[in-house]
Amino acid sequence: MDPTVTETLQDRRARLLGPNMSTFYDEPVHLVRGLGVHLWDADGREYLDCYNNVPHVGHCHPAVVQAICDQAGTLNTHTRYLHEGILDYVEALTATVAPKFDTALMCCTGSEANDVALRMAQALTGKTGVIATDHTYHGNTTAVHQLSRSNPPPGGYWDNVGFVPAPDSYRPLGGEGGMAHARAFAAEVEKQIAVLEEKGVGFSTLMLCPYFANEGFPDLPEGWLDPTVEVVHRAGGVIIADEVQPGFGRLGSHFWGYEKIGFTPDIITIGKPMANGHPVAAVIAPRETMYEFRNNFRYFNTFGGNPVSCAAAMATLKVVQDDGLQANAADVGAYAKAGLRDLAKRHDCIGDVRGSGLFFGAEMVLDRATREPATAFTKRVANGMRQRGVLLNFLGRHGNILKMRPPMVFSRTNVDQVIETLDAVLTETPLQ
Ligand code: PMP
Repeated sequence: MDPTVTETLQDRRARLLGPNMSTFYDEPVHLVRGLGVHLWDADGREYLDCYNNVPHVGHCHPAVVQAICDQAGTLNTHTRYLHEGILDYVEALTATVAPKFDTALMCCTGSEANDVALRMAQALTGKTGVIATDHTYHGNTTAVHQLSRSNPPPGGYWDNVGFVPAPDSYRPLGGEGGMAHARAFAAEVEKQIAVLEEKGVGFSTLMLCPYFANEGFPDLPEGWLDPTVEVVHRAGGVIIADEVQPGFGRLGSHFWGYEKIGFTPDIITIGKPMANGHPVAAVIAPRETMYEFRNNFRYFNTFGGNPVSCAAAMATLKVVQDDGLQANAADVGAYAKAGLRDLAKRHDCIGDVRGSGLFFGAEMVLDRATREPATAFTKRVANGMRQRGVLLNFLGRHGNILKMRPPMVFSRTNVDQVIETLDAVLTETPLQ
């Protein structure tokens, strides 16, 4: 690309959006088009998208585009008028979750959904204390920003917030994995509950991503949350499952993250992939919970659940179900993990390979014996992949976990390209 075009765009961004707004990669990508698992930049260069979970059924999926266009050309209003769209969608959505979840509140972002869920928990418990892990992200409203230790609020944390160490299967709390790790986590939750009770705010809810996606998607056995669920419920609190990342079949083995780890939350929040890029999110809850919330908080959301959003969400859900994308995630994800494990035989920098379905990655280390994180190296690898036309990213407390979470139409051929490219990049990138 003509470097002056990139510079002009970066200058305009700095001038118009503020000078300190970040982009991915050392050399930002200027995208102009997407289709399926591919993206193209302004020079016509093709990239394999191995990162974006928002275009869940593939970039610009024709069925979703058509549904949006048809509805946008017919009617778009808010939810104080009657419309079938929201009802048909909530009916289809609640059919995918545990039977007790029979109502939903539609909004526009995961942050909003989590913010509402906190208030639902407050309505149920009469208390405001919230616990989250110490390396999570739940969104950007003033309230949920408090729970995002990965982006600390400048004014410090509120009194009603407590944190527990994020689960890490590669370096488990207490040194032992599996159910010992599970009990250690539950004990930390119990400690924080006591702190909140002592402060007088009381304990309302534990908010967590059931796949601990932002924490580094640790490999946790089914039943791992059982001791925690016990502790939370015994204290009169509720669990909010933030399914913004693992939901809608991505994990392959299950449609929802909470099913994979084997527990039933009290409230579920969803967003991002729900309408393939159209801003749609929701809180799913039992009817009595919804009633308590609406009774305690007057809530209206101008855009939430509008007919165009619901048409987009319905079309996305239909594609996931009709095209067997959960099964595809299971098959292609297992193939990807096997490919990464194979790479690990040749590259000592790969300390751990993790994932489920189309959410997979590898933890990069300087030394397998000490497990010292290869933080700077991981960033170089992500940039190297971008230079070779594969988009992925990295995350985790140490910033050393390569994260891959492509659209659900990803194929084994796409995986081959990722593995071949990663092999080349790991070979050419200096570890130190
Ligand atoms: N929860 C989780 C787990 C997320 O990863 C995110 C976004 N990355 C959010 C909530 C917030 O969603 P949104 O950006 O749509 O507000």
